[in-house]
Amino acid sequence: MKFGELELHILSDGTHTEDGGGIFEYFPKDIWSNYKVGDLTPYKTDEHNNIVQAANCLLVKHPQGNVLIETGLHDKTPNYVKYHNIVKKPSLMESMKSAGVKASDIDIVINSHLNPDHAGWNTTYVDGKLKPAFENAKYVIQKKEFRTAVNPGFELKNDYFSVEKDVLPLEDSGSLELVNGEKELLPGIFVIPTPGHTIGHQSVMIKADQKTLLYAADMAALVMHQEKPRCKMAFDVLGREECWRTKKELLYDLAAENSWFTYFYHETSISIGIIYKTTNAKGEIEYKVRKVESQVL
Ligand SMILES: [Zn+2]
Repeated sequence: MKFGELELHILSDGTHTEDGGGIFEYFPKDIWSNYKVGDLTPYKTDEHNNIVQAANCLLVKHPQGNVLIETGLHDKTPNYVKYHNIVKKPSLMESMKSAGVKASDIDIVINSHLNPDHAGWNTTYVDGKLKPAFENAKYVIQKKEFRTAVNPGFELKNDYFSVEKDVLPLEDSGSLELVNGEKELLPGIFVIPTPGHTIGHQSVMIKADQKTLLYAADMAALVMHQEKPRCKMAFDVLGREECWRTKKELLYDLAAENSWFTYFYHETSISIGIIYKTTNAKGEIEYKVRKVESQVL
């Protein structure tokens, strides 16, 4: 789809499941499991209390290079694949093929953070050794995130269990570009620190032709996280106050005030929406996301 002079391609890396209580923290199950997104109720659980999640990576074809945001699900550890019911139909590489790009065509990879469901295809086995899957790319990660991931301590060890496979081979090959704070990578493509889900989490802002798209990643992964200001994941490393501050500044004070497009990495019912502010019957401010069909962008 066209976005100003850019071309955007949603690249699926299949589906996986995650515990519903973990995704919606203290919100009662009755609310989230019946939550409506359009005509759908996408957060219905299976018998294990799991909900199905997407892994919607995004390819941005920019006149100055190809940018891939997120690399999908880690599938090099059988227990993880089994526990999360990972089904790669299609896989990221198959989706790339459909979009007409090869791994070697990617110039920049952005990982919002280094949990295994966002950095899974960072590397691939070549002759039994792990190498960068995108051999010509720089991998852009916040320095804080990298430092936490390689030295997570007891409390965060599980969150970063796959780092040895997904991230360390990038360091060996000199493919990492660690950034400190906000940075414009190509004209109109910015990474912005959004601490909360992880300490060094970053989101991506894409500006073209007077339009803005916010790739929030796990700052607000699902529609309910965006529409409900207090809705966060139990997996978020930082507390409610910090998560709220991050969401308020970027998602509500900027994106909702200006009706930006927002992108959903994990949402199965929509990939792109517009967030806007409205007032309910009681006169209270509410936030809503309207689904966007790709041709409207
Ligand atoms: Zn995630």
